[in-house]
Amino acid sequence: MDTDNQTSTVTTEKEIIDIVAKQHEYFKSGATKSYQSRIDNLKKLKSALIKYEGEMHAALKQDLGKPEFESFLSETGFCVHDISTTLSKLKGWMKPKFKLTSLLTQPGTSRVVYSPLGVNLIIAPYNYPVMLTFAPLIAAIAAGNTAVIKTSELTPACSAIIRKIINETFAAEYIVHIEGEVNETTILLQQKFEHIFFTGSPRVGSIIMAAAAKNLTPVTLELGGKSPCIVHQDAKLDIAVNRIVSSKFLNAAQTCVAPDYVLVHKAVKEEFLSKLKDRIITVYGEDASTSPDFARIISDNHFQRICGLIDQQKVTVGGQSNAETRFIAPTVMRDVTLTDKIMSDEIFGPVLPVLEYDDIDEIYSIVDQLPHHPLACYIFSEDSNFQKEIVNNIQSGGACINNCIFHAANHHIPFGGVGESGMGAYHGFDGFECFSHKKGVLKTATWIEIPLTYAPYGNKINLLRKIMK
Ligand code: NAD
Repeated sequence: MDTDNQTSTVTTEKEIIDIVAKQHEYFKSGATKSYQSRIDNLKKLKSALIKYEGEMHAALKQDLGKPEFESFLSETGFCVHDISTTLSKLKGWMKPKFKLTSLLTQPGTSRVVYSPLGVNLIIAPYNYPVMLTFAPLIAAIAAGNTAVIKTSELTPACSAIIRKIINETFAAEYIVHIEGEVNETTILLQQKFEHIFFTGSPRVGSIIMAAAAKNLTPVTLELGGKSPCIVHQDAKLDIAVNRIVSSKFLNAAQTCVAPDYVLVHKAVKEEFLSKLKDRIITVYGEDASTSPDFARIISDNHFQRICGLIDQQKVTVGGQSNAETRFIAPTVMRDVTLTDKIMSDEIFGPVLPVLEYDDIDEIYSIVDQLPHHPLACYIFSEDSNFQKEIVNNIQSGGACINNCIFHAANHHIPFGGVGESGMGAYHGFDGFECFSHKKGVLKTATWIEIPLTYAPYGNKINLLRKIMK
C-alpha cells in the first residue's frame, strides 16, 4: 500500500470523482484483501483512536456538550473495543463456512466464501459522530474493502479530528474523509460504489436509496423510529427507572435507540411516575443545567423542534430550556395520548412521554398506530411469557428485556432496523458480513460422472422426481 498520508481536503466535484476512481483502482490491485493487511490496518486505526482519544472527547464536548464518560462509553471506548473483538475473531470470520450439499448436487462439497464488496460509501449522522463513523469503517476494513467517509456538517469539531485521524493513518486511495454538506453528498451519490452504508433519518435514507437505485448500488440503512418501552405491572420498578433514565437521557436523548416513549401498565403508573421523578432528580439534580453529566442539543433547529413538542400542561418533571446554551431539561410528560404532537414522530430529544395501557392488545394497538417500525422495543417485566409475547409480536429492529439500548453495545449480536427503521445489520460478525459478499461455492467431484441431468432425458424425470420430492 502507498503509505503517503493524506495532506489535502477532498471537496470539489473533480476531486471526488478522482478519489473514487483511485479507490476502485486500489481495490482492484488486491492490496486490501489479505488477512494480514486487514489486521495491520485495524491495528493502525486502534493506535490512532487511542492516541487521539483526548482530542475526540474535546470535540464531542464542543459539538454536543457530551460528558467525557459518555464519550468514552459510547464513542471512543466502543470503537477500540470493537477493533479488539474484530482482531481476535477475524481469522475465524474469514474462513469459508462449510454447508450441506443436497442430493441433487452430489457428489460434492459446498461452502460460503466471504469476499470484499469493493469501494464503500459510509455516511454518518451527528449524534454519535465518532462511533457511527468508525464502527462501520472497522467492519469495512475487516471485510477487505476501501471506504469513502462523509460525516455530518452539524459536528464540525468531530469531523476535523476524524479527518485528522483518517489522513494520518491511511492513504486516500484506501480510506478517505470527504468534507461537505448536501451538495458534496449529492455528488458522492452520483458515483459508482459497491455498497452505501448510511446512518441517519428515514427522510434522508429514502433520498440515499433513490440515488443508489440509479447505479443498482446495494444499501444498508441504519435509521430511526419511535422505540417503545413497556413497563408491565410486575416489573421491578426501581430497576426499571434506573435503566430508563440512564438510557433515555444519555447524550440528551439524541440516540437512535433511546426509549422514545413509555407504555406503563395502569396499575403501576402513579408509582412509576413518582419513582421516575425521584430518579431524574437523583441523577441530574434539581437543576440539570448545572449537571456535568448531561449533554446539549446539537443545533438551534433541533432545539426549536424539540421545544415545540413539549406540552407544558402535561409536564410532570423538567420542562425548562435555554435557547442560548441549547439546554433542554430531562422532561417527562404524563397522560399522553396518540393525538399529542410528541407522538407524531421520533422525538430525538430529552422528553419522555408516558402513556398507559390496560392489556396487551392495547400495547399492540398503540405501537401499530405509530408511523415507523420501531428500531428497538424494551420490555420491563418478570414474566417470561409476557416478554416472549412482546418480542415475538412487536416488529422491531432489536429488543432488550429489562434494559434499554444495551443490545447495541453487545458486539456479538446483530444491530439494525426493520421496515422503516432500516435495512441490513452490523456489529461484530454481522458487520463483517454486511461489508462482504457471501459467495456460495459448489465443488463437484470428478472421480465419478453421473449423467442424470444431461440430455437425452428419456425417462430420467422419474428418478428426478424421487430425488426432488
Ligand atoms: P440526517 O438524516 O439528517 O443526516 C445524516 C447524514 O446525511 C449526514 O451526514 C447529513 O449530512 C447527510 N444528509 C442530510 N441531508 C441530506 C441530503 N438531502 N442528501 C444527502 N445527504 C444528506 O440524520 P441526523 O439528523 O444527522 O441524525 C439523526 C437521525 O439518525 C435520527 O433519525 C436517528 O434515529 C438516526 N440514527 C440512526 C442510527 C442507527 O444506528 N439506526 C444511529 C444514529 C442516528
